[in-house]
Amino acid sequence: MRPCGRPTKSGNPCRAQFSGRGFACKLHTTDHEKTLIEAFEHGRRTGREEERTWQQRSANTRIEQLERQVRTLEEKLDSRDRRYEVDGHQAVTVDGYAYVWTGQGRLEVGDTVLLPENYVSALRRGPGPFPETVTQLGTTYSGTHSRIIAKAPADD
Ligand SMILES: [Zn+2]
Repeated sequence: MRPCGRPTKSGNPCRAQFSGRGFACKLHTTDHEKTLIEAFEHGRRTGREEERTWQQRSANTRIEQLERQVRTLEEKLDSRDRRYEVDGHQAVTVDGYAYVWTGQGRLEVGDTVLLPENYVSALRRGPGPFPETVTQLGTTYSGTHSRIIAKAPADD
């Protein structure tokens, strides 16, 4: 709170207290001053909004840049490590896992193959081989590749 101090009709300074942004007490604030205060408040509000938007935008841009960098690195690693043959057999990726195909012909993406039971399949589907779809040609896995049991016969 601070005193207004504007001259009153009697000639003494106004003793009314006011607080916050302003030039004088309510009674002594001129219309021009009211307009100024309003313009100032408005500018401050929109300034804050703009700053928020700008911060959000620059954060998004930074995230996009990082995502691009990660993708580029992944592609680089992938192309360096990807093998289409493992031990002389075609290597493929089936639902994220690496397999070799030791049977006749070549496999293509979308082919249905019969896979040997593994720990996950046993939990999810029960014991025994299970059908799955080839998702990628080649693998980036450096360990032992499981063998595909069979290629599903054509439908027609
Ligand atoms: Zn006053």
